[in-house]
Amino acid sequence: AQEKGRNTYQFYSQSMNVALAERLSLESDLRQALERSEFVLYYQPQVDIRRWEVVGVEALIRWQHPVRGMVSPLTFIPLAEEVGLIDQIGQWVLRTACAQQVAWRAYGLSEISIAINLSGVQFQQADLVESIRTIVRETGANPAGLELELTESTAMHDAENAVVVFQQLKAMGFSLSIDDFGTGYSSLAYLKRFPIDTIKIDRAFVKDLASESEQAAIAIAIIAMAHGLKLRVLAEGVETQPQLDILRNQGCDAIQGYFFSHPLPADLVEQLIRDLRAK
Ligand code: C2E
Ligand code: CA
Ligand code: CA
Ligand code: CA
Repeated sequence: AQEKGRNTYQFYSQSMNVALAERLSLESDLRQALERSEFVLYYQPQVDIRRWEVVGVEALIRWQHPVRGMVSPLTFIPLAEEVGLIDQIGQWVLRTACAQQVAWRAYGLSEISIAINLSGVQFQQADLVESIRTIVRETGANPAGLELELTESTAMHDAENAVVVFQQLKAMGFSLSIDDFGTGYSSLAYLKRFPIDTIKIDRAFVKDLASESEQAAIAIAIIAMAHGLKLRVLAEGVETQPQLDILRNQGCDAIQGYFFSHPLPADLVEQLIRDLRAK
């Protein structure tokens, strides 16, 4: 039995070493990814349900690793947060999205707003607002056409701080949205105090909309609540016509999801918006 125990231990420690080595290798690659220009922003259209027009896009980061191929942000964003790289990456995202807005302005796409994800770790940095201000000034971007997204859990985790930071960002002219709504614990009192514009219903509640599930009931309740608070509401992860029909009937303002379009490189999103307008 003792012998077996030792083997088991060795097995675990070997597989742990493999996992650790793998993580360290990913981390060291991540440290070089910025200077090697391996990141790219994709943009997923956000569509106004009533007018069926693209009114904005969400910027979603992609890491094109030379060997691993596309690494999901679900893998490398949490790693970047842990190892202290999220500030640099977050600043790159903001700078790139701002530059894209300036380029789209020249193409006659100035009314397309660009939504940018802020990580919870980024949000806790004391100099966040200043660094955003610097990037906006240096790129010549217009904050009125930019929407900053913070998840519900991050916003509620330190709601007092969130109120203050949101107010500063709002004063600079940004739109603000609460991401992944429904997955965290919200205090309605705080929600009312946040100077936000949009609530994004998490995909989990959109998925089963067409079956009369609890998830569907929650999505419908969120729409009513958002409108009660005079907020715009956008449903994420819309994949099917029945989901869209229910959201439209419930008065949801906008959708984002594979039903309309996957996230695309900037030139393809541009093309898609032009094609839609030409119809
Ligand atoms: P998120 O902010 O909730 O972004 C929505 C995610 O859902 C995106 O995954 C998008 O590609 C995916 N999605 C969109 N429509 C559909 C659909 O119809 N069906 C399904 N199944 N999925 C859909 P992605 O791009 O892999 O990003 C995952 C998460 O990584 C994001 O979730 C966000 O939390 C984070 N992330 C992405 N880009 C950034 C960034 O620039 N900065 C930060 N801090 N986080 C980012
Ligand atoms: Ca988001
Ligand atoms: Ca989301
Ligand atoms: Ca999410």
